[in-house]
Amino acid sequence: MTKSFRIGRIFGIDIELDYTWFIVFFLVAVLLSTDLFADRLPGLPLGVRWLVATFTTVLFFASVLIHELAHSLVAKRQGLGISGITLFIFGGVSKMTDEPKSAGAEFKIAIAGPLMSGVLAMFFLFLAFALRPFPGGQVFGTVFSWLGFMNGILAVFNLLPGFPLDGGRVLRAGLWQSLADLTEATRIAATFGQVLGILMIVGGIFFFLLTMNAGGLWIALIGWFLTQMAQSSYQQVVLRQALSGVPVTGAMTREIQSVPADITLDQVVYDYVMRYNHPAFPVLDNGQLLGLLCLADIRGVPRQQWASVIARQVVLPVSEANTITPHTDAWNALARMTTENCGRLLVVEAGELLGIISRTDIMRLMHMRMQLGV
Ligand SMILES: [Zn+2]
Repeated sequence: MTKSFRIGRIFGIDIELDYTWFIVFFLVAVLLSTDLFADRLPGLPLGVRWLVATFTTVLFFASVLIHELAHSLVAKRQGLGISGITLFIFGGVSKMTDEPKSAGAEFKIAIAGPLMSGVLAMFFLFLAFALRPFPGGQVFGTVFSWLGFMNGILAVFNLLPGFPLDGGRVLRAGLWQSLADLTEATRIAATFGQVLGILMIVGGIFFFLLTMNAGGLWIALIGWFLTQMAQSSYQQVVLRQALSGVPVTGAMTREIQSVPADITLDQVVYDYVMRYNHPAFPVLDNGQLLGLLCLADIRGVPRQQWASVIARQVVLPVSEANTITPHTDAWNALARMTTENCGRLLVVEAGELLGIISRTDIMRLMHMRMQLGV
């Protein structure tokens, strides 16, 4: 996912908009105004038509958000962490910090979204029907029946059995339950996802060539996205399987190049960064671990001050964010590496620095284990 920003918080879940979302918002609003509403509501003044189209588009994406909220709230009830919901060009995504613990939990989380969309579809169709006799009934009727129809499409499309669509998750839950093997269940469900994606690409292009309707290209694009997602979610599960339960001590670098607390940033850059080519160094004060110094922290200090500022003043102190215990498994370590700790974690036990670990270290371990078949 690319760059996004937060617009609010609902039920303790951060709601974010990815900047690609604005493209699809704009497209939907333009299509509604120039196509559907121009046909169905020819009497509306142009300005009002645009206003109605914008309002309808907002309600449509609110529906997508409610679909994701349904997933997230059920996931929270199942004890999973939710780091937020992001709306982006292809819809919405609930970011879970871990995978469901059982097939039953996965099924409930997956089915909640399409069920919610189905309920919304009926709600909007009911509104369209109920408001039709009233003043402005034709406008409301058109808006709400379109929203009802689109929510119906959301429910049905998401139920297609290709992982990582909701229907693919339902399929994986079923396979997981019967095979008792999450990796194998994911492999099969993700293969369905890839096949479905390819069918959408081929079908979408054919549809476009036959009708010259750009909707076909859109379907092909979503199909392409689905094949990518299916592939990467399977790799994710394989990675997780290979790294869970493997202690970080097997992958960490034990020969640590540390930096004394009282040298200047100039010295850090010329004597350490340039010589050893590491993006981060532990800082020691008479053998006592102070924290982790990242290149980003040095860059945060204006260059002309590098001669006077010392490492101790800019080092990020030892905290939960940049340390792990030697007993942590490599999968958890990988999940905890962020830009904040410049992708490095200090392996510490009882205040003593045992090693430092990076993504590359873990990938090397993974590679070795795969070659050995262990
Ligand atoms: Zn969903």
